[in-house]
Amino acid sequence: MEKKLSDQSIDELRRSLTGTIILPVDAEYDKARRGFNALIDRRPAVIARCVGSEDIAAAFDFAWSHDLEVAVRGGGHNPAGHCVSDGGLVIDLSQMRTVEVDAEARTARSQGGATWLDFDSATQAHGLVTPGGVVVSTGVVGLSLGGGIGHLTAQYGLTCDHIIDAEIVTPDGEVFHANADENPELLWGLRGGGGNFGVVTRLEFRLHPLEQVIGGRLVYRGAGVREALLRYRDVVERSPRDLSCQVSLGIDESLVPVLEIDPCYTGPDADPEALRKLRSVPGLIQDEVRKLPFLEQQRVIDTAYGEKRHYWKGHFVRELPDELLDELLNRISVLGRPPGGIMIESLHGAPKDTDGPPGAVGFRDATFNVSVLAVWQDPALDAEQIAWAREGAAAIEPWSFSGGGYVNYMQADEPIERVRAAFGNETFDRLQKLKQKYDPHNILHRNQNIPPF
Ligand SMILES: Cc1cc2nc3c(=O)[nH]c(=O)nc-3n(C[C@H](O)[C@H](O)[C@H](O)COP(=O)(O)OP(=O)(O)OC[C@H]3O[C@@H](n4cnc5c(N)ncnc54)[C@H](O)[C@@H]3O)c2cc1C
Repeated sequence: MEKKLSDQSIDELRRSLTGTIILPVDAEYDKARRGFNALIDRRPAVIARCVGSEDIAAAFDFAWSHDLEVAVRGGGHNPAGHCVSDGGLVIDLSQMRTVEVDAEARTARSQGGATWLDFDSATQAHGLVTPGGVVVSTGVVGLSLGGGIGHLTAQYGLTCDHIIDAEIVTPDGEVFHANADENPELLWGLRGGGGNFGVVTRLEFRLHPLEQVIGGRLVYRGAGVREALLRYRDVVERSPRDLSCQVSLGIDESLVPVLEIDPCYTGPDADPEALRKLRSVPGLIQDEVRKLPFLEQQRVIDTAYGEKRHYWKGHFVRELPDELLDELLNRISVLGRPPGGIMIESLHGAPKDTDGPPGAVGFRDATFNVSVLAVWQDPALDAEQIAWAREGAAAIEPWSFSGGGYVNYMQADEPIERVRAAFGNETFDRLQKLKQKYDPHNILHRNQNIPPF
């Protein structure tokens, strides 16, 4: 239902912001309210395009005094569509996208609305990287707050492990800094606990030198797909730290299985053994693996924004036995048409380092993240596609690491027990204490929510 604000209230908000507002009558409204997932079609009362912490504090204040639900928008990628709410106020950070690099200190400061394209372009200008997401339109902060898995996970660890400093605005308008000396508990919570504590205006990251990788994609079709899946599992289980690797299993229009493997190798070999092993599996129909600049590697997995309907569900798993891979091969073809895909991300290598920075993230000891990604266009298929993803996730559950999924991929209908399981009881209780301190009224609840009580 559309909530109508009085002209006087709108003027009041406009005057209180340096940034701009977008209303349902404005031409930009439809574009501004849409996120990555076309399944989400919500109509906020007002979108506040904030340009700094004072704007964010003013937007919180306005939402409080007009009883408006608050949503926070970074890159708009969250599959749950948490960045927009019906009749509410959106704190839209799309005008806050500056990324500053200190090449000597090997650090970068990203504003709260920057995307990975903004970030990687700025850091690669100095031959530096932090491990981020694989689709460049994803928000840096949204991804980092939930953990962050990508093309450099094995080499350097999770994105959230690289956060060294943060600035947030809490719903009562206060500004807090978090780093090793100031509010270290908040820093711990921001490393995995999601957007529960405030709007992040700035995150600072550690960087590593890297310009070139051996990356791209390998595509297999037909009978060789099963063997390619087994080979993938066996290669990454040996934990090569210089090879990150994720795969996507699907079927084509002729209902033949197809597997895409996306390796990213950063070691010294020109022809690494692990890649030779992957390439030698029969059924390889496309080999685009080659030396390429990191920015090009970040374009290997690209996906249209706002066009398709998405419903994702999955589990971190303890292991990836043949039985589970056979179950995934079975699940991908049960609908008798391409339903989307099943993605497997490996967590070998650096995420397991025990001397890494402490954080709330709850999945680093799992072996793989297995996600059933229903992707479709026709609204008439909604129920069937959603059921397919849910049944697929249920089939993976016997191998689940904790019963919880990846908070960054969760839909809005996940019960609180699954969010709790994603962290484990002890961490969840500790996050609740942080929530009591920074957002005791749970104003920020459009997220994978940690309720204060
Ligand atoms: C196509 C696609 C590819 C993806 N690839 C990866 C990947 O490679 N690796 C990975 O780990 N994840 C990946 N994700 C998941 C993604 O990291 C999460 O969905 C993340 O929440 C998206 O952040 P966003 O800012 O783009 O989204 P939004 O929908 O704008 O924001 C999502 C939520 O993040 C929080 N948030 C965002 N910005 C701020 C801020 N500045 N302050 C406080 N809270 C904030 C809010 O709670 C908000 O509701 C992908 C998702 C999609 C759809």
